[in-house]
Amino acid sequence: MPATTHTTAPRYPLATNPTIFGKILRGEIPAKVVLEDDKAIAFHDIAPKAKVHVIIIPKQHMQCLRCMEAADADLMAHLLQFANQVADKLGVKHSGYRLITNAGEGAGQTVPHLHFHLLAGPNLPAL
Ligand code: AMP
Repeated sequence: MPATTHTTAPRYPLATNPTIFGKILRGEIPAKVVLEDDKAIAFHDIAPKAKVHVIIIPKQHMQCLRCMEAADADLMAHLLQFANQVADKLGVKHSGYRLITNAGEGAGQTVPHLHFHLLAGPNLPAL
């Protein structure tokens, strides 16, 4: 069987992004925003799994990291820099933080809009 490709997964414009994160981006449901710029937004996870648990998403929709194409490289670099700024704002940049993305349902992804979990605080499980 050929390897599955995800580059053909739909990419929704903001107006029709059907995910819960699309609704947050359109202001249809509230979020506790930590930081926002023209390409990304960070907000507190509604069900935190650590003392600090923030979701970081690009405003541009793609389903998950598996859908990344070469043209997305600048955006990805921006998201990593943005995550560092978020950590700084939360006061955990120097103490340390963890950045995780679940790519696909098999990895536990439940919201099909690329996102990174920024986790920090005591007792993070060793990986
Ligand atoms: P994942 O399982 O990797 O897809 O992560 C999705 C994350 O989104 C989970 O940690 C959820 O708790 C979080 N989440 C779902 N709905 C909301 C919401 N309305 N506001 C903030 N975080 C949410």
